[in-house]
Amino acid sequence: MRFLTCLTEEHNLALVGLAAWFCLVGSMITIRLLDRIRHAERASRIAWVFLGGAATGATIWCTHFIAMIAYQPGVEVAYEPRLTGISLLLAILGSAGALHLTTRRGRPSAALGGALFGLTVSAMHYIGMQAFVANGLVRWSPAYVAASVLFAVALGVLAFDRARAAGRFAGPWWATALMVGSIVLLHFTGMAAMTVTPFAPVAGQFGSSTATIVMAIAVAGVGTVVIGTGLATYILDSQARADTRRRLHELLESNVDGMAIVQDGAITATNAAFATLVGGGGAIVGQPLACWIADIATATPDRLVQLTLVASDGSDVPVEVAVRFDQRRACPQTIYSIRDLRARIAQERRIAHLARNDSLTGLPNRTSFLEWLARQTGADSPHRAVALLSIDLDRFKEVNDMHGHAAGDQLLVRIAERMQAALLPGEFIARLGGDEFVAVMPVAEPDDAVQLIDRLRDAITAPVMIEASGIEANCGMSIGVALWPRDATELSALINNADLAMYRAKAAIAVDACFYEEHMDKTVRVRRQMVQELRTAIDRNELALHWQVQESVGSGAITGYEALLRWTRADGSSVSPAHFIPLAEQSGLILPIGEWVLRTACTTAASWAEPHRIAVNLSPVQLGHVDLPRLVQQVLLDTGLSPARLELEITETAMITDPVRTIHVLRQLKAIGVTVAMDDFGTGYSSLSTLRSFPFDKIKLDRSFMAELNGAPQSAAIIRAVLTLGESLDIPVLAEGVETVEQLAFLREQGCDEAQGYLLGRPGPLPARGRAEAARLAG
Ligand code: C2E
Ligand code: CA
Ligand code: CA
Repeated sequence: MRFLTCLTEEHNLALVGLAAWFCLVGSMITIRLLDRIRHAERASRIAWVFLGGAATGATIWCTHFIAMIAYQPGVEVAYEPRLTGISLLLAILGSAGALHLTTRRGRPSAALGGALFGLTVSAMHYIGMQAFVANGLVRWSPAYVAASVLFAVALGVLAFDRARAAGRFAGPWWATALMVGSIVLLHFTGMAAMTVTPFAPVAGQFGSSTATIVMAIAVAGVGTVVIGTGLATYILDSQARADTRRRLHELLESNVDGMAIVQDGAITATNAAFATLVGGGGAIVGQPLACWIADIATATPDRLVQLTLVASDGSDVPVEVAVRFDQRRACPQTIYSIRDLRARIAQERRIAHLARNDSLTGLPNRTSFLEWLARQTGADSPHRAVALLSIDLDRFKEVNDMHGHAAGDQLLVRIAERMQAALLPGEFIARLGGDEFVAVMPVAEPDDAVQLIDRLRDAITAPVMIEASGIEANCGMSIGVALWPRDATELSALINNADLAMYRAKAAIAVDACFYEEHMDKTVRVRRQMVQELRTAIDRNELALHWQVQESVGSGAITGYEALLRWTRADGSSVSPAHFIPLAEQSGLILPIGEWVLRTACTTAASWAEPHRIAVNLSPVQLGHVDLPRLVQQVLLDTGLSPARLELEITETAMITDPVRTIHVLRQLKAIGVTVAMDDFGTGYSSLSTLRSFPFDKIKLDRSFMAELNGAPQSAAIIRAVLTLGESLDIPVLAEGVETVEQLAFLREQGCDEAQGYLLGRPGPLPARGRAEAARLAG
């Protein structure tokens, strides 16, 4: 009641409103400054505390003063200047102290600061009241005084506490309201504590009320300037800070790495790169960084650390984190730079992959293979035995030559895919280069490797559609197997042995896979030596041709001579063509040698007095690897031999490996005018279908039938059958290996067309009949 009557009856309400407005604006500024002081850097802190103290003190004091002007107790009043000045000074110092306590670094205490503020307001008020001189008896109610101080202190504490707190009933507006409450309640409760009983007026003793008002207004004006200065400084400063913030923001945004600034454990700013990194579009600011990077605490300023960021979609992102602590501020902040390592790691993986894998097929390369093999056969290998398969593609070079390298590459890629798909766990395959592959598998017994060989055969030999040309290509394979530790305990020896076995498989006609056998070692070495010598045989004039006569069985007339190659080595020893021709075929030497034979045979025959026909043997390799028709034509042209005098002998092997191509070549040869004989007939494969596929000019019955003629009755039957076959196909038959008169008689009886053999003449350097035959004719 006292409070209300005091306010409504003894005050000029308009001026009270002005005081309240002053108080509100001042409090608002105080609360803002409180925040500013808290974030001030060390150096500028004192300045901000002083500015804050001045503004707050002026607020309290001016509010009090304007309210006092509004007070009209019904008597003349005056103010004692000295005490009024002291009250202002006290308000400023007390406020500064309160602000300092509240924002102190280390142990800030809003309660202490708020209490000091309340006490300052109280002290200012009552000292100010001591300066108030009224023309009457002033009496005080101690209860009201005590209540007023309590109000001021309690609301001061609350105001300063709420200023910093978060949540409901907190924040700058609540703090401002509480601070206004603290000042206003103190003032009016304090005024209500006082009653003035008027004396009789004594003129001139108390000064005039007009002077009082002038002084009050002047002082209020000064207060306004002080508060205004505080406000202006604050505004300028916050603008400068906003500028800095904007620049910092721009700096953050322009960074390609994710950036996060953390204060008091929560993110206060990030950039777009960081938002992209975490994804999801949820709130980032205000969250702890550990939400995304669990181990962020392990990041230290002295080095880069690699951590895992868990993005919003749950995916793991490897990141590199750099940290910097910013200690300059009252509230230290930590700046994290977070670099996405995915691209770099992928790049590193790619490089590592390239180093360890073949770039064409993606299979492991030689490096990986050697490592794998070393691990499989090492001391701590879990396996008792390991099989090493050396794999080589047959006819791959042909595909390359005929269809181009792109087709060859495609074939390799496809075959590699299929081989990879055919592997079982524990099995390993690598490409060493070209058409060379290796496979490694643990085995319990040697035959286990056969399973893998079967799977690889399916993978390799199935045809591959070449996209560019739309044709199907296919390869054969040769596999050599060496077993660790049975065949070798050293890796290089193991690899070498698998290779030796592979070469054996390549040479063999009936099988495409061979196991390593110890004795191969020596055989292969001797053969290699021989190949080395054969290489220079033409140049050293070590090759020569011998001629073996071919005769008509009926008339005994000479029908031709077969050219047979002879090699006499530098040491005088001669090597059988049955021995060195296969070597020449494997090493490719057959091409120059074959050409030499053809050219020499034609040259020699062209010089003979009698125009006998000559037969020249052709290797399947020659059929496959040279432009044979053109070569033959060229040689005939060069030597002047009539094409009708040249017969080419080919074996069935050539027809088996690539029948389409072979028949094509044979047709071209026939077109030139030369004849083609099927050599060694009866030893090979599906002889009948071979004969049907191409119109041969002669069938040469293999000499093994002649040799068995006496012992095995089937031989006679077979010879008869072949002769009948020739007759029905209208192809003349020549019997090879005729050594006895009985054999010749048998052939004559059966109606065989021609014969060749030791009986008729051994191969010799000159075209001549043998001695036995000469004797026969003479006899
Ligand atoms: P081939 O074409 O079947 O040649 C006939 C082989 O039988 C010759 O052996 C010849 O000496 C031998 N021979 C002839 N009459 C008789 C006989 O009554 N009884 C016995 N047991 N053998 C007889 P050679 O000269 O050792 O040739 C062996 C093989 O080497 C030839 O078999 C042929 O396949 C190959 N060859 C020889 N010269 C050449 C050549 O210039 N080029 C090619 N590519 N291969 C050749
Ligand atoms: Ca022959
Ligand atoms: Ca023959």
